[in-house]
Amino acid sequence: MSVPPSPSKDFIREIIDEDLSSGKHESTVTRFPPEPNGYLHIGHAKSICLNFGLAEEYGGRCHLRFDDTNPAKEDVEYVDSIKEDIQWLGFDWGDHLYYASDYFDKLYEWALVLIENGKAYVDDQTFEEIRMGRGDLNTPGTDSPFRDRSPEENAEIFKAMKNGEFDDGSKVLRAKVDMAHPNLNMRDPVLYRIARAHHHRTGDAWCIYPMYDFTHGQSDALEYVTHSLCTLEFENHRPLYEWFLENLPVPSYPRQIEFSRLNLNYTVMSKRKLLQLVEENHVEGWDDPRMPTISGLRRRGYPPEAIRNFCKTIGVTKFESTNDMALLESGVREVLNQNSLRFMAVLNPIKIVVTNYPEGQVEEIESPANPENPEAGTRKFCFSREIYIERDDFMEDPPKKYFRLSPGNEVRLRNAYFIKCEEVIKDDQGEVIELRCTYDTDTPRGQNPSDGRKVKGVVHWVSASHSIDATVRLYDRLFSVESPDSGENSFLDHINPDSVVELPNAKLEHNLADVANGETVQFERLGYFCVDKDSTPENRVFNRTVGLRDSWAKAKDQP
Ligand code: ATP
Ligand code: MG
Repeated sequence: MSVPPSPSKDFIREIIDEDLSSGKHESTVTRFPPEPNGYLHIGHAKSICLNFGLAEEYGGRCHLRFDDTNPAKEDVEYVDSIKEDIQWLGFDWGDHLYYASDYFDKLYEWALVLIENGKAYVDDQTFEEIRMGRGDLNTPGTDSPFRDRSPEENAEIFKAMKNGEFDDGSKVLRAKVDMAHPNLNMRDPVLYRIARAHHHRTGDAWCIYPMYDFTHGQSDALEYVTHSLCTLEFENHRPLYEWFLENLPVPSYPRQIEFSRLNLNYTVMSKRKLLQLVEENHVEGWDDPRMPTISGLRRRGYPPEAIRNFCKTIGVTKFESTNDMALLESGVREVLNQNSLRFMAVLNPIKIVVTNYPEGQVEEIESPANPENPEAGTRKFCFSREIYIERDDFMEDPPKKYFRLSPGNEVRLRNAYFIKCEEVIKDDQGEVIELRCTYDTDTPRGQNPSDGRKVKGVVHWVSASHSIDATVRLYDRLFSVESPDSGENSFLDHINPDSVVELPNAKLEHNLADVANGETVQFERLGYFCVDKDSTPENRVFNRTVGLRDSWAKAKDQP
């Protein structure tokens, strides 16, 4: 008796289990087939985690295959970034790196096979005429006047197309299937077009290029892919995928299975729109930390583990849905809370002079490097007479229940003493520029005073003479509405004007001078921050990865 599938398995894993137990396949071969016409985004991560994840789980293999049949839009820059992103996500294609362009000779040969068998013909109609002749869901298509060319004539013209004897766009090769087929994809689809475009791998060797549909399934078959997983919009391409397999001498018969795309709120996912954001300078590049690209998320400080966990949590189904950005963000917090070292940083500083602290005296304070992980050890930082705190952590005229610093009020400095604000110093414009405080010598290192008095507020700080300068970029969601894609307006109209705020005068604990580019740390009380590649030895640049709490949920709850 066969073991019933475990309820947690998705439909794709159920199919694979069945194919393995029935002996249809001995092992699994999957592939991830990006077109190198843009950078990968979080939607691609779902497909990567699925395809490479299956290979890991079933001891099979997963190929990386570039679907490079459209040279006009493709570029090696994209090829390189895609490889880097997949590796960063934690996956490995081993020796199985392929390009659809590796199969151009084979595909050409197979086009001639179809021609020979009366299953393909050269059509001299324009693209517009072909489109018009296709009909629609209610109207059958009409046969092209060139549909009945003989196999000999078709072979001769097709060879001449390949040899560059005709102008771009003047002829195409079409499959001869059925112009009245209920599925429009089966109404004599185009197999080849003439395009004199330089290809990033084959150079100028070809002036005809195969269409995606004529390439994909045959590439799968040539690589002995067992399960060819794609998104739902290819569901009605499946009959065509199978028609090619049935009408060509392919070495294997892969099965196409469709699953729903990953959609995420507060962002856009189509490569065309992402390219538009880049080209029109709405963002600073594909790896702008606000982009949903893998390289953007990496630069933002997202750990690959959090992206993998997210993909696992949302699972694989056949239903279209939109996932919540907050779920991704909370997964990021969860991983970073475990892994990131703690430091203090003041983003928008105001100076405090602790008047009763001896001038020139410095004391070292030791604190856990990460309270979640005792193995991380401790870190040491300095306290001295002049410190910075956050401008936001002081109010001259505080409302009731304001527990942070205000004139005459006492707060605890995180990991250090109680201080009391005695005097507020202002410039000529009335702007507060400095605070004079006294500290309670009885309250070192976060301990409570002996008289038992309570202080509710805790503020973070850095010692002025031990701090380093930094620029901190507060990133937020790129769009201020849940579905920037829907509605009448352009998605560009919904760009969040506060999606980045740059704070150029931040002061950081000196230990942060040693943190490597790309590393993410916690700034206590503020959130998680990642060292940006724009950092220099003189000025560190940090990107906010995510705050400590979900500020969007809070904002939404407010009336
Ligand atoms: P776009 O439509 O944005 O241009 P694409 O789907 O054409 O993207 P490809 O490079 O062809 O981009 O995608 C490579 C693989 O990633 C395909 O198998 C595709 O189905 C999958 N993929 C792309 N977007 C998503 C998504 N949002 N969710 C899941 N898988 C996706
Ligand atoms: Mg595609």
